[in-house]
Amino acid sequence: MTFKDEFYLDEKDGLTFFRSSNLSAKHIFSTRLGGVSTESHLSSLNLNSDRGDRDENVAENLRRFTRVLGSDTDHFVSASQVHSTDIRIVDISDAGRHFYAIDGFITREKGIVISVSIADCAPILLEDPNRRIIGALHAGWRGTASGIAAKGVDIFRSLGSDIRDIRVAIGPCIHACCYEVGADFYESVLSLQGEKFSNKYVKAGKNGAFYTDIAAMNCSLLLDAGISFENISVCSRCTCCENELFFSHRASHGLRGTMKAAIVL
Ligand SMILES: [Zn+2]
Repeated sequence: MTFKDEFYLDEKDGLTFFRSSNLSAKHIFSTRLGGVSTESHLSSLNLNSDRGDRDENVAENLRRFTRVLGSDTDHFVSASQVHSTDIRIVDISDAGRHFYAIDGFITREKGIVISVSIADCAPILLEDPNRRIIGALHAGWRGTASGIAAKGVDIFRSLGSDIRDIRVAIGPCIHACCYEVGADFYESVLSLQGEKFSNKYVKAGKNGAFYTDIAAMNCSLLLDAGISFENISVCSRCTCCENELFFSHRASHGLRGTMKAAIVL
């Protein structure tokens, strides 16, 4: 099953980033281009302070990032992510806060920029343009297989969304071309999602290795949750393949900056 891509590269104020025409709310999927960080592995739009960058560089990069959304860092919400399925509903009183052990945000309030950090994991932005609800989820393989996407959809529905109105954009992430995993990975996905699912999305390669596709896994779980095929778009670009454009944890063996995806009403 091939999902719509609908992503396009855009530029504003010196930043190069992706957007999806599947979403109507202001949003951004950053690349590594357009920031002030100078060290080669952080160059140039590193957006997290835990990568050994200078604080003033990260602050300036975040200022540029939020400016593309017509906002500022005082209205920005971020998290230290732990590959969980914990999603926080935030409101304007949370503006400017950093949370710990959270892997997603959902809000109904205007003016609060919700974000997730990525460097191979899948950034998932959701929007119900009818009820005016937005979400940002971080989905690595563990969060993906644990069902963070479906959990996000459940929260939208609990806030009044009609499932037919929810639109989803899965941004640049590592794809099956590069995402080699061990047998333990297969066993984990098997225990979380069952044999049919793990056989479909974790493929055996050479020398006992397995390859997986987290974007496809998330799409499958979103369809199971009731999201319509037409309302899902998936960026086909692989963060591990294109090191000039993206930070990749896998390609850099962990010596890399961090990108973010964010959305605001
Ligand atoms: Zn690749």
